[in-house]
Amino acid sequence: MEAAVFERPGLEFLKLIDVEEPKITDHDVLIRLKVAGVNPIDYRAVSGGVEVKPLPHIPGAELSGVVERIGNHVTNIKEGDRVIVYSRVFDGTCDLCLNQSEMLCRNGGIIGVVTNGGFAEYISVPERNVFKIPDEMDWDLAASLSISILTAFHALKEASLKVNDCLIVFGASGNTGMMALQFGKKIGASVIGVSKQHWITNFGADYVIGDYDKVVERVDEITEGRMADVVLNSLGVKTWDSSFASVGVNGRLVTFGSLTGADVKLNIQSLYYKQIKLIGATGGNRKELQEILTTFSAKDLKVKVWKRFSIQDARHYLIKVESEEFC
Ligand SMILES: [Zn+2]
Repeated sequence: MEAAVFERPGLEFLKLIDVEEPKITDHDVLIRLKVAGVNPIDYRAVSGGVEVKPLPHIPGAELSGVVERIGNHVTNIKEGDRVIVYSRVFDGTCDLCLNQSEMLCRNGGIIGVVTNGGFAEYISVPERNVFKIPDEMDWDLAASLSISILTAFHALKEASLKVNDCLIVFGASGNTGMMALQFGKKIGASVIGVSKQHWITNFGADYVIGDYDKVVERVDEITEGRMADVVLNSLGVKTWDSSFASVGVNGRLVTFGSLTGADVKLNIQSLYYKQIKLIGATGGNRKELQEILTTFSAKDLKVKVWKRFSIQDARHYLIKVESEEFC
């Protein structure tokens, strides 16, 4: 089969070559890939930002496709099923897995990082990572489910977002940001998107703040001084101060990304006087992924496809995803 492969870290080493089709064991599912998302983790995998195995390596973490073949002991998945791949590798036996935190598995990692990924014609994954999707769901939405959509869903759960809360989403025009806007509206929150892209109103933003220097002032006006109940900031240091200053009393600031840098300053007086909770979130668990699939129909959620690439352009699109301004 053809796959995007690199023998050592560096975008310049990623190339399309013929490799052996992956083998399946009794509990595995072989998937013919349809659409893969391009995620910052793929860039980090190829560029050396995270250590990968095995080498040579196939990247690609956010995957959807059709089941080609199943192992002898696979019970719930059959050939021809349209599926997505839960992106975490996990043992299923450690205390965190038993506590439904497979994304934090003590012996785990991310598909496409600690295993070969899906920038290829086929991938083999354990059955427990495979989720069926409805016939009417298009591949664009499907490909976003296992990372972008799940991350947004999990982050809002961790933040206990409720009806009538005020939610602010920084980086609202990114894939995860767009999903957070949509979930926020479905929960019944008032949603403010921080982005230069006014079209985010099509994804549920009640208000758009395009000027990053005026976020706090605008949030103060919109909320009549109460500020936000929940703020999502996955952009890191660049928007940290304004995101923190936008949190109201008993508010929650959630972060699950650090695109512009990870080292921030924190005024702990504001933290305790306002009883702010700082929450880190990463990915989500399989129960949440199943919950998304059963709660929302294909019509309920939408994605915006920035660009489509074929697999031989892998190097170019990875450079692009990292340089793209999602603010
Ligand atoms: Zn585990």
